[in-house]
Amino acid sequence: GGQAGKRGREKERVTFEDVGGLHEVKNAIHMKIIKPFVSPELFELFKKKVGGGILLYGPPGCGKTFIAKATAGECRARFIPIHISDILDPYIGGSEQNLREIFSSARANNPSVLFLDEMDALGYNRSRASSNSMRTVVDTLLTEIEGIETSTEKMLIIGATNMPWDVDPAFKRPGRFDKMIFVSPPDEEARKTIFQIKLTERPVVDIDYDWLAKETDLYSGADIENVVETATEMVITEIMKTGVERPIQMNDLKQAIASTNPSTIEW
Ligand code: ATP
Repeated sequence: GGQAGKRGREKERVTFEDVGGLHEVKNAIHMKIIKPFVSPELFELFKKKVGGGILLYGPPGCGKTFIAKATAGECRARFIPIHISDILDPYIGGSEQNLREIFSSARANNPSVLFLDEMDALGYNRSRASSNSMRTVVDTLLTEIEGIETSTEKMLIIGATNMPWDVDPAFKRPGRFDKMIFVSPPDEEARKTIFQIKLTERPVVDIDYDWLAKETDLYSGADIENVVETATEMVITEIMKTGVERPIQMNDLKQAIASTNPSTIEW
């Protein structure tokens, strides 16, 4: 037995506490969608229209999916992730049918957060001329989104993309994905927090979090998770070989950093 087996299953409910950095993103999500979702009275009093969705954009692995999941956790809502490429169907009307089914099953499972990833794969964009068949898919999605009364239906829509310039402008109008939020690569302070989040609950000793943050410029949250996983794996392998248990140390993390590369260079 011992410490290696202690970690067990992944925690079910992810909340904002599990997300490092991204303070402005958390604030914006809080104001724009969580508040009207959990306490609609104020918005009703002031006749403030709620509804529509937010669109998260930024480089891969920096927490778009993760913060959407945490948003569901904050609202104690079900998280329903959808990849746009999975719903696209070459048969006429197939994609529209898939979309309607997803929305109706989400409705049946409210409260829910519907997360639509790869929003750039839908509709008109630079790499793909607009076609009539795409148009009706876009219209179907817009109809579904505009039909949601956030406060009464208890359903939130969060879209995401790595290529915001490729998102069909029709999605960016009021009542649709009218709020665009940049999910940035983590700065030094955020990287420190992410290391702390990922290493807590694991057996560690003498960790210099400032050093880790400083040495991982351009690492995404996913890259940091990978560093921690790599270091953990090395320690477990060693323990299995030697039979001597020990916690994760700085040297393991240094080695893991040396063996990985940052992925957010282009941004
Ligand atoms: P993609 O554009 O490729 O879909 P993404 O932005 O949706 O990427 P996520 O899937 O949210 O990226 O991130 C991958 C993993 O990296 C998450 O499951 C999480 O463990 C970790 N991660 C990323 N950013 C953060 C962060 N800010 N705080 C904590 N963990 C993070």
